[in-house]
Amino acid sequence: MMMSFIKSFHFIIKLMFDITIIGAGITGSLIAHRLSKLDLKVLVLEKENDVAEGATGANSAMVHSGHDPKPGTLKCRYNLLGNRMYPELCKELQVSYVPIGAYVAAGGEEEEEKLDQLIAQCEERNVPYEVMDGDTARKTEPNLADRITKVLSLPTTGIVTPWEVVFAAMEEAMLNGVEVKLNYEVSSIEKKEDHFVINDEICTKVLINCAGAHCDDITNMLRESPYKVFARKGEYFVLDHLNGTFVNHVIYPTPSAKGKGVLAIPTVHGNVLLGPNSDDCEDVEDDSTGSGLDYIRSEISKTMKNIPYHKMIHTFAGLRPHIDLKDFYIQEDDLIENFIHVAGIESPGLSAAPAIAKDVVENIVLPKFEGYKVKETYNHRKPFINMDKMSDEEKSALIEKDPDFGRIICRCEKISMGQIKDVINRNCGARSIKGVKMRCRPGMGRCQGGFCEPEVLKILAKELHEEKTEVCLDRPGSNVLVAEAKEEL
Ligand SMILES: Cc1cc2nc3c(=O)[nH]c(=O)nc-3n(C[C@H](O)[C@H](O)[C@H](O)COP(=O)(O)OP(=O)(O)OC[C@H]3O[C@@H](n4cnc5c(N)ncnc54)[C@H](O)[C@@H]3O)c2cc1C
Repeated sequence: MMMSFIKSFHFIIKLMFDITIIGAGITGSLIAHRLSKLDLKVLVLEKENDVAEGATGANSAMVHSGHDPKPGTLKCRYNLLGNRMYPELCKELQVSYVPIGAYVAAGGEEEEEKLDQLIAQCEERNVPYEVMDGDTARKTEPNLADRITKVLSLPTTGIVTPWEVVFAAMEEAMLNGVEVKLNYEVSSIEKKEDHFVINDEICTKVLINCAGAHCDDITNMLRESPYKVFARKGEYFVLDHLNGTFVNHVIYPTPSAKGKGVLAIPTVHGNVLLGPNSDDCEDVEDDSTGSGLDYIRSEISKTMKNIPYHKMIHTFAGLRPHIDLKDFYIQEDDLIENFIHVAGIESPGLSAAPAIAKDVVENIVLPKFEGYKVKETYNHRKPFINMDKMSDEEKSALIEKDPDFGRIICRCEKISMGQIKDVINRNCGARSIKGVKMRCRPGMGRCQGGFCEPEVLKILAKELHEEKTEVCLDRPGSNVLVAEAKEEL
């Protein structure tokens, strides 16, 4: 589409776009992915050196069924729709979606009453469900605590790897013309007559604010923000691959004023997460762990027994971008035309994101672009090479073609050099040790990178034509080496 909207220039602007999205979490990425199917010039700006670095990179990874949000909220509407969209979306993006199902576990009269409220909500919302007594549920979940007397089964609950959805959506968006600038922090926005100017150099007709914990900072660059974002921390224990020996479904307690409570959550890769807590946190970037872990231990014992803490390999924390309006804030600004808020996207934001993206694109953005066209051809990405899912014959054929696939770098997760090179050499490829870990898992296993990290560092330096001292662990500035080692690493 022609950039006809800019009527006047006071200075030369180098970069001009129809739509600019601030933030490459799940909401920004799925909006970009949808827009990449149309003949519009789209840009994504992300302050970190990778996508999926905010709340999307550290959460429970669940696609909730929609049984829980308060009636009449955007959270409820988008969660229900998003849950139905995920299987198809993951198929399109060629990433994993596991319809694992969930149990909400109640023990005693008070909790059973809360469960009855959830059952009524399932009924009203057409969320499939089944009700069982504790003993029946223990036949499929033997480690359910003995105090559990009644269980609500929610078969449409799913699990995904949230950052994998983002990597895939951004790869595909970029393959189809969306531009992405990493390491690009938006620090100023000016509203001109019919466009915005970002950091004095980028010009855009429409601006979409998907900046998570910083949505209010972005809005304050244009007007006083109608909401304030607070961080709510959630911490987790990560247990090693248990592959169904401890828990087969997601196990929720009955909800409380603090939210959905502390869960046992199998992951797509066979690990188990225990968490999260929900504690207000002053610093929206403080993802340290510690203070909430004792609470998680005591809460999880109310729903689960025989918890294999000796299999614990890691702890982490995520920060929910909570706003003071009690619901998602998704709308065009009431004072500034063409400025769109996608703010306060705390839980169930991951579950809701496909529906949020559809609504924002179809009902808010596209009415502003008369005559836009759907692209005639659309390019799909090649999925990451997952040797774990290959037969021995397929592995042998791959190694025959490229011996790098026969050289194991991560012994815990059995990841080859070929797989690591593949995730680096992509349009939205890994640029840090964490970026490699999130894409193909070296460092996710029992040794937590103790053996493979130096090797991954060397591969990154070679593939990116960087000095080893330039390679970062995660964020810019987190360089692993301060100087070249005397001996080869
Ligand atoms: C502990 C926890 C558990 C959760 N569990 C679930 C769950 O199981 N299911 C579920 O549905 N939801 C869950 N959620 C919620 C879900 O993770 C979030 O709703 C979702 O990830 C929000 O995505 P987002 O893209 O809006 O924001 P983010 O993922 O936070 O992305 C915002 C991006 O904007 C970038 N940015 C910020 N400021 C700037 C700037 N000035 N310039 C450029 N870029 C900028 C950030 O770097 C970041 O990458 C959980 C959240 C947490 C924290």
